[in-house]
Amino acid sequence: MSVESTELGVERIVTDVCIIGSGAGGAAAAWTLARAGLRVICLEAGGHFGQQDFSQDLGVASRQLYAEDGQRLMRGNVFIPVAGGECLGGSTVVNSGICFRLPRWRFEEWHRDHGLDFEYDELLPFLEKAEQMLQVTPSNPAVYGGNNAACMRGLKALGWSGGPMPRNAPACVGCGACNTGCPTGAKLSVARTFIPAAEELGARFITNARVEVAHSSGSRVTGVQATLLDPATRAPIGSLRVDSRAVVLAGSAIQSPAFLLHNGLGNNHVGRHLKVHPASGVIGIGSDRIEGWNGTPQGFYCDEFLRDDRMILESWWATPEVFWINFPFGAQGGERMRDFAQMTALGGMVADQSEGTVRPHGLPGKSRISYDLIEADRVRILKVLERSAELLLAAGMDTVYAGIHGLAPLRSVAEVREQLRPDRVRLKQMMTLYSSHPHGSIRMGNDARHSAVDCRGELYGSEGLFVMDGSICPDVLGVNPQVSIIALSLMLAGGLAAQLGGRLPG
Ligand SMILES: Cc1cc2nc3c(=O)[nH]c(=O)nc-3n(C[C@H](O)[C@H](O)[C@H](O)COP(=O)(O)OP(=O)(O)OC[C@H]3O[C@@H](n4cnc5c(N)ncnc54)[C@H](O)[C@@H]3O)c2cc1C
Ligand code: SF4
Repeated sequence: MSVESTELGVERIVTDVCIIGSGAGGAAAAWTLARAGLRVICLEAGGHFGQQDFSQDLGVASRQLYAEDGQRLMRGNVFIPVAGGECLGGSTVVNSGICFRLPRWRFEEWHRDHGLDFEYDELLPFLEKAEQMLQVTPSNPAVYGGNNAACMRGLKALGWSGGPMPRNAPACVGCGACNTGCPTGAKLSVARTFIPAAEELGARFITNARVEVAHSSGSRVTGVQATLLDPATRAPIGSLRVDSRAVVLAGSAIQSPAFLLHNGLGNNHVGRHLKVHPASGVIGIGSDRIEGWNGTPQGFYCDEFLRDDRMILESWWATPEVFWINFPFGAQGGERMRDFAQMTALGGMVADQSEGTVRPHGLPGKSRISYDLIEADRVRILKVLERSAELLLAAGMDTVYAGIHGLAPLRSVAEVREQLRPDRVRLKQMMTLYSSHPHGSIRMGNDARHSAVDCRGELYGSEGLFVMDGSICPDVLGVNPQVSIIALSLMLAGGLAAQLGGRLPG
């Protein structure tokens, strides 16, 4: 069991490794370092919520589980939400359970462009370990519901590649609540896998402990100072100092660079090169009852266009108010919502060439994020909408709405291609832009002139501070990130363990 800020009873801890953040990267690092016999303390800004605590009320879930209460935005030539978890287990607690491996060809691009000093085959065992721990299996058609089944029909009709989504929820019952925390415990987030396994090995997780200060001696980082928060009010109630031989920063690709910049650590690549996989979607309306709320929300994918066109299509689902706000129903909104049971939803994300910047906000736990969507990515997002619409029409939907302000309902492939032409749609009309995959903002590479951490994850310009979360991706991933982040973290934490004299079992 994790330790609550209110139960701590000490103001100073000495340990081998202090980890900041308990999400995908932090939890995997904690498990590896504890397996090697090292003393591990992991400090988590958010609270500990189990399946009995989750609420499907979006307002409650946002406050309990999401960074900045679910209100975080990137500002630039368009505003895009960038969601992230803030709780024990981080974003893996609120994610959709999608599990893709980093493709070999993408890694080769990273290798070519960023000078990594390890090969894909060295990372492969860690990708496999991540999948094994998360029990990744294809979504079960018996519970994935009408929305995914309709997408499968469209996929088959068009002959595109794809299928049931690989996910880390083998016992999923299709209740549809993934993004507010899985109430059945079926989704195997790191809070249900790596964290309990690390705790059994002696690692300690302290919740409602927000790290704000890095302590240094010369260029060596020697520990951190955390503010302890009241679990109910989030008001400061005390502080904790942790002195350690190494610090692992795993606060996510938004909070980690904000923390480094706030503490004046790292070179001028920290906080730059942010990738987010901007996403958008369409809904289709047919004559049959689909009942998209029943079933796995994201149980279908199409990877036909993944490599050449930098996009992947994935089914999604949301509440009626989200549909109402984000689609151009115009004055017929009320009428359209009567068709809610006949709706399907599909969308996709692009491997962005746009780059954002993260800066500290001045207020603890907050950040300023700027991100301009470049023209090539705007065009790709329109292509995502076009292909999603075509797939839903092929699935038998009569009408498709794309999330573009002022766009007429689409009833044929010809209309789709005409209406979604890049010269007909302005960026400001794109209503459903969304992101939840920040990465790349403390990028890894073997040259400090181009990167922020070296290939062991150690921050250039400092000793003793290692980054092990989505920030270190050298460039865009292009597939949903959790498996790749966990694998990188498992690999780097193994290297750190050896450096500290720990011994991993064979
Ligand atoms: C709604 C949503 C759906 C998603 N769906 C999928 C999906 O289906 N498949 C997939 O692969 N990916 C998905 N993702 C993304 C995936 O979950 C993340 O990419 C991954 O978890 C990121 O790992 P991380 O270690 O970088 O950060 P996180 O998992 O976000 O963890 C960071 C943790 O650090 C803590 N922290 C930050 N700063 C501090 C501090 N100063 N002190 C203490 N603690 C701190 C945070 O509170 C947080 O708990 C989704 C994300 C979201 C938000
Ligand atoms: S759909 Fe499946 S994984 Fe998602 S919350 Fe429900 S049971 Fe859990």
